[in-house]
Amino acid sequence: MNSSPSPSRDVERLKARIRDAGLRCTAARLAVLLVLSNAKSPLTHAEVAALLIDRGIDKATVFRNLVDLVDAEILSRTELGDHVWRFEVRLEGSNENEQHPHFVCLDCGAVSCLSDLDFDAPSRLATSRVGNIKEILIKGVCVECQPAS
Ligand SMILES: [Zn+2]
Ligand SMILES: [Zn+2]
Repeated sequence: MNSSPSPSRDVERLKARIRDAGLRCTAARLAVLLVLSNAKSPLTHAEVAALLIDRGIDKATVFRNLVDLVDAEILSRTELGDHVWRFEVRLEGSNENEQHPHFVCLDCGAVSCLSDLDFDAPSRLATSRVGNIKEILIKGVCVECQPAS
């Protein structure tokens, strides 16, 4: 029991987040949240469903839980120009304006979170004259797709 205390602590924290949002903490809901909290980048509904099929959780259940968790502001939903929603866990206590930018590879379509990239207050102020930011998207070629030199 002492060998890996952190995963179970994570689970307890996620359970608490679900309950704090006023949702019932069902096994399927917790499983969906757990998959996304372990993911390195935002996942599509299909990707989450594929990871949970072995657990006997069907696609419709996954989708319903994704929507519930977005409504409860535990997940954020991102559309990166390919008309596919991707889901990721929001930082606790963060609001819509604190979402981080995403990098999309033009070759393979891989999506990465740029969590360290700060879109600072002056930049936000400057863009607020144009409109409200919903999404910060950066396109390029990922390291995997760059030809070896
Ligand atoms: Zn790529
Ligand atoms: Zn992200």
